[in-house]
Amino acid sequence: MPGDGRPPLRIRAQAEVIAMRKIPSLDEVREAMYMPRSRFKEHAATMLAESGVMERAQKSDVYRLLWGGKGYQPELDGLQEMPVLTPEFYTGFGEKDPKIPSGPVKEGLEGWLCSTGSRKMKFFPFSDYDTKWLGAYGSRYAMMSGISAGDAVINVGAEPPHCSLTMSQWASAVYGLGSIPVTRGVMGRPQELMGSLMKNAGSIVGLTGVPLIGIKFLSTMSQMIPVPLKKAFPKLRIAVMAGETMNGKQREAFESFGIEAYEMYGSAELYAPAVECPRHGGPHMFLDDNIYYLKTDEGPKWLWDCKKGDIGALRVVTPNREAFPLINYDVKDVIEVLDTECACGITAPKARVISRTDNVLNIGGAKTYENHIERMFEEVGKDYVLPDWQIHWSKDPEGNVHKFDILIDNGELDRQRITGAILDGMAKDPRTEQLWQAYDAEILEIEVRTLAHDEFQKTVVANGTPKRLRIVKKF
Ligand SMILES: [Zn+2]
Repeated sequence: MPGDGRPPLRIRAQAEVIAMRKIPSLDEVREAMYMPRSRFKEHAATMLAESGVMERAQKSDVYRLLWGGKGYQPELDGLQEMPVLTPEFYTGFGEKDPKIPSGPVKEGLEGWLCSTGSRKMKFFPFSDYDTKWLGAYGSRYAMMSGISAGDAVINVGAEPPHCSLTMSQWASAVYGLGSIPVTRGVMGRPQELMGSLMKNAGSIVGLTGVPLIGIKFLSTMSQMIPVPLKKAFPKLRIAVMAGETMNGKQREAFESFGIEAYEMYGSAELYAPAVECPRHGGPHMFLDDNIYYLKTDEGPKWLWDCKKGDIGALRVVTPNREAFPLINYDVKDVIEVLDTECACGITAPKARVISRTDNVLNIGGAKTYENHIERMFEEVGKDYVLPDWQIHWSKDPEGNVHKFDILIDNGELDRQRITGAILDGMAKDPRTEQLWQAYDAEILEIEVRTLAHDEFQKTVVANGTPKRLRIVKKF
C-alpha cells in the first residue's frame, strides 16, 4: 500500500459528539511501530482524551456499577488509582447482556468473540468499528513476519467464533491475505484437508494458531505428503503462534520443518498486543493502541517507563474499543519486560507473559476452566450415572502430549460409551470445545478408568464445604 506522507495515527479534533478515532491505515499502523519513545506518554494521553472513552464507559451499566456512579477525567493522572475492572466483575453480567456494551454492537459471528481469558467463558462484544480497527492492528502479525498481501496462511487456531480464528480472519481480510481454516475434525479427514491446502499450495506462506496444534499439524501433513513439505508448499516458511508462551523445544520443532516461529501474545480483550519481530527474543508489546501499566512490587509503572527485567501484573485501558472499552482492566497475566531496545528499530519494549494469575487450564494452548468441565460432566451424568469422578491430568516429559485419566467409581459402566459421551459433551459445549479440538489434534489423550471410590484423591474444602477435588495435576 503506498504511503501518503501523513504522520502516524493522525487524530481528528474532538467533536461535540463522542466520535471514535479514525481507523488508521496499514501504513499508519506500520509507522506507529517506530514512534519515538519520548512520544509514548503524550500519545497515550491524546488517545485517552480524544477517544472519549471515559464518557462512553459511563453510559454502560458495568462502569456505572463499578464506579458507583462517579465520573472520571480522561487523564493519565489518577488512572492507576481508579477502580479495577476484573474479568470476574464483567462476567457477572449475563452472557450477551445488552447492558454491557457502551457502543453499538452487531450481533452474530462477526460481532461477538468468546474469550477464555475470562473467569467464565464469555462472549466479548465487538462492534463493526472494533472489527475494522482490530483488522488493521491485527495485521501487525503479517507485517512483522514479512507476509505480503496475496499470500495465504493456514489457521490452526480454535474454532470460530473463538477469537484466535475469527480475529486472524479479520486481519487477513484487511491485509489482503488468504486464510485457510483447519476446522473441527478436518485433521481426521486428511483427504478433505489436503484438497483445500493443495488448491492454495503456491500461495501458502505459513500458519497461525497455537504452538502444540501447529507442530502436530505439520507432522501430520509431513506424514501424509510423499514429498518434503517445502516441496509441496514452496513458500511455506513461518509460523506465528499465540495462546501460550513458546518454549525452545517448540521453536526447534518448527525449525525441523524449515519454519521460522514467531511468538504473538493475544486475547479477545486485547487482540494481539505483542508480536515478535524477525530479530526474535520475545514479542514487541506495542504502545500505540492500548495503554498499559504493570503493577510491580514497587508500585504501578507505565509500560513506557519500565526497564528491562521489570515484572508485574498487566493492567490496560483500551481507548479504541467501541463496544466494550476496558478501563483499568486486570488482564490476569504477569508480564516481564525482556528488553527496551531492539536492532529492528521498533521502539516498543519486548515483553513476555510469565504466568497467568487466574485459574484457566491451558492444555497445549486449548483453554478451559475447571467449572466448565464440571458442568459438562453434570450434563453427561444426566444420561449416564457418574456418581463420582476425578481427572488426573498429566503430560509427557517433552510437554507435547497431555493426558486426562478420567477416573469413575462405577465399574458397571461401559467405558467406551462413557468416553464417547464425554467427547460429545466437550465438542457440543462452547466452553469446553477447545479441549475437543486438542483431542482431535492428538495433543490431548483421554482415557476413562474405573477406580475404587476411596482411591480418589481427597476432597478440598471450599468456602467451608468439603468438595471433591475434580482435577488433579500430576506434573
Ligand atoms: Zn525487534
